[in-house]
Amino acid sequence: MAKNLFQKIADGEIPADIIYSDDEIVAFKDINPQAPFHALIIPRKPIPTILDVQPEDSLLIGRMFQIANKLARDYGYDENGFRLVINCKEYGGQDVYHLHLHLLAGRKMTWPPG
Ligand code: 5GP
Repeated sequence: MAKNLFQKIADGEIPADIIYSDDEIVAFKDINPQAPFHALIIPRKPIPTILDVQPEDSLLIGRMFQIANKLARDYGYDENGFRLVINCKEYGGQDVYHLHLHLLAGRKMTWPPG
């Protein structure tokens, strides 16, 4: 099956500002940042949406949040806080169908989201 955009980024076939990488997870800066710091944390495994997560993916999903925790601390956003977002399908505003966790930081977020 053809690789999707985020698989190509994870495999280095499309350039991106990669800020974390291991054998399961990659994180890179969003090309169209919605905050002073906006990163995407993805599994290398091609899971299209959060609805496609299986019980055997539980550790992997937990690790995505651990990496978000680490990056937030590493970049100094742990004191003021930040936002984590997963969009799902059309009404959730998902554009790329490869599961990704948005890490947005560096400004005060508003609620409700648009
Ligand atoms: P979604 O709307 O699916 O939750 O988020 C997709 C995100 O991927 C968007 O914030 C968008 O700016 C980002 N994005 C789309 N194409 C690229 C790309 O080629 N490179 C990077 N770094 N980010 C991308």
